[in-house]
Amino acid sequence: MSDYDNQNIFAKILRGEIPNDTVFENAHTLAFRDIEPQRPTHVLVIPKGPYRTWHDFARDGSKSEHSAFVEAVAAVTDAESVESGGYRLVVNNGDDGNQEVPHVHMHVFGGANCGPMIKRQS
Ligand code: AMP
Repeated sequence: MSDYDNQNIFAKILRGEIPNDTVFENAHTLAFRDIEPQRPTHVLVIPKGPYRTWHDFARDGSKSEHSAFVEAVAAVTDAESVESGGYRLVVNNGDDGNQEVPHVHMHVFGGANCGPMIKRQS
């Protein structure tokens, strides 16, 4: 596993040291509203384990953690009623992915069109 900074903001949320607006939780996963929502639905889904990147989670997470994560994403899209209108899942990963918080997280955007996926570089 790559280095994990246990002082990152999501680690503090998981320890209950700072508040969050929880949407869904299961044994291995927490989903909460982004503090600066970019769409009417903007929820972050995080594994509770200490994984910095998607690769760390994919490689070092257990099958139980993986399935709990997938179930949590579906529970969020159900709870937010974005299934019929559509939604976008994004994981920013590492430097080129512009990942700001070094605890792997999936953004769930919905409730309004998310625009083109990514702008072509000039
Ligand atoms: P990323 O750029 O993919 O690392 O996204 C980090 C996200 O975390 C941003 O969308 C922030 O708005 C969000 N964020 C940062 N601090 C908090 C917090 N305390 N509670 C909820 N969301 C947060």
